[in-house]
Parts: sequence; C-alpha cells; structure tokens
Amino acid sequence: MMGLLDRIREWFESLFGVVLKVDMAIDLGTANTLIYLVGEGIVLNEPSFIAIENKSEVVAVGREAKVMWGRSPKHIDVINPINDGVIDHYDATYFMLRNFFNKAGLKLKTGKVRMVMCIPSKVTQVEKSAVVDIAHELGAKEVLLIDEPMAAAIGAGIPIHEPRGNMVVDIGGGTTDIAVISMGGISVKDSIRVAGNELDEAIRNYVRDKYNLLIGWSDAENVKISIGSATPEERKGRMVVGGRDLASGTPKEVEITSEEVWEAVSPYVETMVDAVRRVLDITTPELVSDIAKNGVYLTGGGSLLHGLDRFMERKIKVKVVRVSNPLEVVVLGAGKALEEYDNYRNAFV
Ligand code: ADP
Ligand code: MG
Repeated sequence: MMGLLDRIREWFESLFGVVLKVDMAIDLGTANTLIYLVGEGIVLNEPSFIAIENKSEVVAVGREAKVMWGRSPKHIDVINPINDGVIDHYDATYFMLRNFFNKAGLKLKTGKVRMVMCIPSKVTQVEKSAVVDIAHELGAKEVLLIDEPMAAAIGAGIPIHEPRGNMVVDIGGGTTDIAVISMGGISVKDSIRVAGNELDEAIRNYVRDKYNLLIGWSDAENVKISIGSATPEERKGRMVVGGRDLASGTPKEVEITSEEVWEAVSPYVETMVDAVRRVLDITTPELVSDIAKNGVYLTGGGSLLHGLDRFMERKIKVKVVRVSNPLEVVVLGAGKALEEYDNYRNAFV
C-alpha cells in the first residue's frame, strides 16, 4: 500500500523533476557489473573494466575498456578491479561505478537512495566493509547486502522460504559458488576459484603449449564461447585464432577445433563438477532428496558453456537446470528482494 508520504513525494518529484527516492541493486561481478533500478529494471550491464590514463584520467569503462585490454599503450592502464568477486582496486572500482552511473543517467547526490549490493557468500569482514563504503561514496543513504546465491535463487523464482532444499551453482568469471538454500537461509555452501576465467586461461595455455602461439585473453574467451564444449562429442566447430609466435615473435594464426577446446577445459570443468558433488556429500539426506526432486539450478555466465548442464547432470546423477537468464538473475533477484522488502527482509545479510 502506498502511504500518504509516498504520494506526496511522487507528486513533488513529477512536479519539479527531481528524484527524491531511488531503490537500486548492484551486482558487482568479476566479469560483469549490472545495475537494477526499482521501477525500471536493468539499466546497465557492462564488463567490469576501466581504462585510466596517466594514473588519473578515466578514458573508458565497460565494453570500451575491455576492448583495450592487452592493446593499450604504456600510459593507459586497463584494469579489471574486481577479483574473485571482491574489490581488488578500491579507487578503480569507485570510478568505474561512477562512470556506469553516468552512463545509466543516474544522479544520486540528492534524495533517499537505498542500495543493495550483491556479495559472494564467502567474504571477509574487511571485504564487506569495502563494498559498503563504496556504496556510501556513490551516494547511498542506506546500504543492504545480499548473498549472491540467495539473490540468484530469488531471481530464478525459487520459493526460498519453504522448508525445501534448493541448490544454486553460480559459475561466474572468478569463482564457482555453490549453495543449498532452505527456509530463507543458506544451509551449506562452498566456493572455488575455478570458473569462466580459468577456462579462458586453460585455452590460452593449450594453444601456447601445442602451437607455440600466444593468444589474447579476449580471443581465448571468444573461442570458449564460439566453439567450446563440456563434452567432446556434442559440438563440432573450428575457428582461426591469431597471436604471437613464441619462437619467432612474428604474427601467426592457427585453426583450432571444438575437440581441442574440450581437451583444454575439461580438467577444470571436472573440478567444478567435483565441487558440486562434495557439497552434496555434506548436505543432509532430507535436503539432498529435495534437490533431487527440483534439480540443481545453474546460473552465472560460465554456466553457458555448451553442454555443461547435461555433462554435470550425467556426473552427479541429479537433474540440472540452467536458468533462462544466467547472466542477470543475481541482480534481478536483488532488485526483487528490495521491491518486495517485507517478504524478503530476511534474505539480506
Ligand atoms: P561474474 O558474476 O563473475 O561477473 P558472470 O556471471 O557475468 O560472472 O559470467 C562471466 C563468465 O561467463 C565469463 O567467464 C564469460 O566468459 C562466461 N560466459 C559468458 N557467456 C558464455 C557462453 N556463451 N559460453 C561460455 N561462457 C560464457
Ligand atoms: Mg556473478
């Protein structure tokens, strides 16, 4: 129900064109940052990158900065300030977000700003305070924190309050986070530092060792997305990649196949699956039985690796369901928790 004060505020806002109240959620990921504005939806979705010239001037953020990665001259630093889900470079993160706010047309210096920040379930107190500090610096009057697996579960439409176990596996850029959620809380969780970026590195190393060719990070990622696969038989693609020949130092190109990419990434895919199996091993039989009924929910961009859902399902012998929008569920869930605050107040940390 909308109170009288809210009505007066809305009337004032529309009359004078100033926004007095903003509710928003931010998923500050290792690979991608998303901003959700209550009443509007996702207003920003960009890679977590910033390019800084002469250590002071911001030259680009997001997609534009990521393209400069490995291509910039000495006086421009291209920084990916989030590492394994936590803030690694405080100032760079602040400037990146401030620029993202500008891009999304958000001006937050006035009014009542409530900000939900999504955090990995395994963070230290210091890492948590860095997130809170940055939110305040960006203009938040009130900062709420939510565990990413919890946000993902809400975003995926899982009824988190029921006394029924649900497993969420979020494969991001830096980490794979596994959590069993029941009765509005996390009962078992684990996080490993093997996720999407590790697969890119595996492809890079494979091409280096087999062809004596060094390729760029983004090219390795493109190979993974375009022809990569979690199984050797499901995808038959080939792709040309270029880089620097390690022996001669000159440019070189080779053609690689899906099968080779599978060979490169498969040990890491196995590691992720093993981590899921280990969490199932320490989960109570009641919850495991629930999970078996509902299936394991796969989220995060890393879950888009071709055939990963089916491969995992075969290995853990439990149904695996990839959510329909794996790159967005965390921020969507955080936004929903804020929109329906009374219903989800316990979901915040
Ligand atoms: P984070 O939350 O850590 O920022 P995301 O959930 O945004 O991570 O996922 C980013 C990861 O997903 C990257 O490693 C990216 O390469 C990977 N990714 C995105 N799309 C695909 C795809 N189609 N196939 C395989 N991996 C993908
Ligand atoms: Mg994430």
